[in-house]
Amino acid sequence: MKYAVITDSNVAALYGKPDFFVVPAGESSKSLETVQDLASHLFQKGYGRDTTIVGFGGGMICDLAGFLASSFCRGVPFILIPTTLLAMVDASIGGKTGVNLPEGKNLLGSTTFPERVIVQPSFLETLPDSEWENGIIEILKAGLLADPYLFYHLPHLSVAAIIDRAIEVKRRIVARDPYEHGCRALLNFGHTIGHALESLSGYTLSHGRAVASGIVLESRLSHAMGLLPMDDLEIIESHFPPVEVHFEPSQIIKQLAVDKKTRGGTPHFVLLEKIGEPHVKEGKFCHPADEHLLLEVLTESCMCTR
Ligand code: ADP
Ligand code: ZN
Repeated sequence: MKYAVITDSNVAALYGKPDFFVVPAGESSKSLETVQDLASHLFQKGYGRDTTIVGFGGGMICDLAGFLASSFCRGVPFILIPTTLLAMVDASIGGKTGVNLPEGKNLLGSTTFPERVIVQPSFLETLPDSEWENGIIEILKAGLLADPYLFYHLPHLSVAAIIDRAIEVKRRIVARDPYEHGCRALLNFGHTIGHALESLSGYTLSHGRAVASGIVLESRLSHAMGLLPMDDLEIIESHFPPVEVHFEPSQIIKQLAVDKKTRGGTPHFVLLEKIGEPHVKEGKFCHPADEHLLLEVLTESCMCTR
């Protein structure tokens, strides 16, 4: 078995070896063109069906390497070694692989599970602060969905314990529903509004910041719909940075209409009943929101920033 390590230029500069396959750091490398280049290079260097691909880097590399492996020589095994907090708890777990298209993110991909994920927290010693935030937000989301202890005690837990617990939340949900026919959709909490804010900003807003605002706004919506008690909402708000929405509510609502979870023109949301307990009704995990309540929540939240 031959191992082909795929990484990006930042990770290569810190931890690289001469025979690594290096792509430029940044989201623009997550493309079909890069997959084709990597496949050609692998083939030219004598890698074939007996290859195991190793994705060594952040979420971009994990998604890219997984997608390459899912199609190289009609599919070869792959191993992921995530090096960002976000990739350790999110991108490397759950088998989603993919690349972006000019029309949008992750539009081409597959659900293909790695042979193994190797999580080595010492790689985080070189991670910039801004990248830590992206991971922490997703970890708080995991806590809100299924691990209240993690949500409340995060500042007092070790990094290794935090990573372990967040992975466990995602692993359990994915094990119950690997191909997202049901409960896996819960992992989108905060992401319906989060993705809308991210794309309205032209991706200048970080994923973490966008999802943090999405989590607070979807929690406010949960409260407005009579599900989440005020006490829980206030606790949630105190755990996240203040919501910064620089868009008109009407712009956000328009953007929500193009979301993947939108059915029949109505955006759907993961809602909370309390911290650690999502709203599940009649076997459904995503719910349409009353248009007026959604507008009200967005309008109030947008006013806060003025
Ligand atoms: P994600 O946030 O989805 O994991 P990326 O793969 O784009 O996103 O990684 C974010 C940035 O962090 C990239 O610029 C990447 O090169 C860099 N990076 C990844 N791992 C490390 C690390 N261990 N130390 C420093 N920088 C890293
Ligand atoms: Zn996310």
